[in-house]
Amino acid sequence: MQKYDVVVIGAGPGGYVAAIRCAQLGLSVACIEGWLDEKGKPALGGTCLNVGCIPSKALLDSSHHYEFLKNDALEHGITASGVSIDVNRMIARKSKVVSILTQGIASLFRKNKIEWLKGHGRLLPDKRVEITPVGDETTEISVVEAEHIIIATGSVPATIPVAEVDQDRIVDSTGALTFNQAPRTLGIIGAGVIGLELGSVWRRLGSEVVILEALDELLPAVDRQIANEAFKTLQKQGLDIRLGAKVTGTGSNNQQVIIHYEDKEGKHQINVDRLVVAVGRKPNTSFLGAKEFGLQLDESGFIQVDDQCRTNKPGVFAIGDVVRGPMLAHKASEEGVMVAELIAGQGGHMNYGIIPWVIYTWPEIAWAGKTEQDLKSDGTAYRVGAFPFIASGRARAMSETGGTVKCLAAADSDRLLGVHIIGPNASELIAEAVIAMAFDGSAEDIARTIHAHPTLAEAMHEAALAVDGRPIHI
Ligand code: FAD
Ligand code: NAD
Repeated sequence: MQKYDVVVIGAGPGGYVAAIRCAQLGLSVACIEGWLDEKGKPALGGTCLNVGCIPSKALLDSSHHYEFLKNDALEHGITASGVSIDVNRMIARKSKVVSILTQGIASLFRKNKIEWLKGHGRLLPDKRVEITPVGDETTEISVVEAEHIIIATGSVPATIPVAEVDQDRIVDSTGALTFNQAPRTLGIIGAGVIGLELGSVWRRLGSEVVILEALDELLPAVDRQIANEAFKTLQKQGLDIRLGAKVTGTGSNNQQVIIHYEDKEGKHQINVDRLVVAVGRKPNTSFLGAKEFGLQLDESGFIQVDDQCRTNKPGVFAIGDVVRGPMLAHKASEEGVMVAELIAGQGGHMNYGIIPWVIYTWPEIAWAGKTEQDLKSDGTAYRVGAFPFIASGRARAMSETGGTVKCLAAADSDRLLGVHIIGPNASELIAEAVIAMAFDGSAEDIARTIHAHPTLAEAMHEAALAVDGRPIHI
């Protein structure tokens, strides 16, 4: 039986990064992955590369260009006539982007001498893993043995009984990445990250989008000021977000999906051409044999781990979406690095308090650290500094003046506790805040750092100055 220092199960951003880091540290590594791509071929990269982060951002970028040409180019003096959209070509570009990147992981595996075992891995006693082949390309090895196992089996879309996904009229996020035309009317259940991102894509391409959200407020984890601004901006763009809306059932009349829902005002019915169910994701342990192996799971099915991703079984770690914490690609990857370094005998550490979040609507929403509502409920004394993009020279030059940067700093030490942005390129701007917080930086540290002019990053500089009541441009 083939024995490895490390066997990784799952090759999403958690598993493939863990495998590469283990190999860099001189460990022998095999990675078991059972994903089949659109053509039924085995593929690395997991949810993120195949049906998550990358394809959704490819469509967000394409649809943003389309909307710019249709609505915003004229302001720059550009007349774009006859602008039209070829959705199939857009989807084909998305698929090409995905396949280039997933093949890139395969070549990184070859470079790092990581063995890719194609199939589903199931845990057996004594740190052995059985591989059940999937698709046509089978792996000959059927059981491998490992000194250490890293489980990185990710997550799958959550389902609700009132709207059963058929991947035709009622789809999940994966189905919503492959429509061959913009539905005239699109319903979405869930105004979370996926609902807002994919809702934006199809709205830009011409769909009338209605989003039904069970909660009474949008994005409860986001700083309230930023979430309220996001709500107003997205509504103004034409996303019809209905809060406090509980879907009670769905039906069909051949042509359309009929959605029944209730809110404070009573019972309602709407008909849509397509419906996306985006109500969260759940941990994926379906092929793993986790319970038989004796792994402790929590009541929601997440594999229980300590701060360093150790499970209850010695030598067996679990990382990424299948364990507690935010379901984000970069969180999964950093846990992969931490665990690889622990296995190699190095220290392993990760700062869970400053994992950045980004919602890729336009304007983008990004944050790290504590929100104002967190600080209030903790009883932490803080100071706030905010700067609107309307006062930024660069934002004005770009005609992208919507949004705000908001810094929260400790009242006594001035330490940065949270940074919240809604605005152009917020996804890139948040990195500065994360670095400052990682070094325990203060608002004054950012205020005294020279930012190039004219840049959007100057808004961060000004928000930091505003914490001390001395912004220059407002
Ligand atoms: P996954 O990426 O889910 O990978 C798990 C892998 O394990 C899969 O390839 C699966 O086939 C494999 N596997 C499962 N069981 C077995 C088994 N028994 N044997 C072998 N292989 C197995 N996150 C961001 O940070 N930024 C974004 O912009 C973003 N956008 C997203 C957009 C969408 C539409 C979706 C759905 C998700 C998005 N996410 C985003 C979330 C991100 O995709 C996940 O957080 C991330 O993929 C988790 O990585 P992972 O390695 O834990 O799991
Ligand atoms: P989510 O948790 O972000 O949002 C789900 C929403 O659905 C919530 O607002 C919830 O209140 C609502 N909901 C749940 N049940 C409902 C029901 N029966 N009726 C109406 N509303 C209901 O989940 P998601 O949008 O499905 O995304 C899943 C995860 O994938 C995210 O939490 C995130 O971790 C990850 N993701 C990240 C990004 C990114 O980083 N940009 C993008 C997409 C997905």
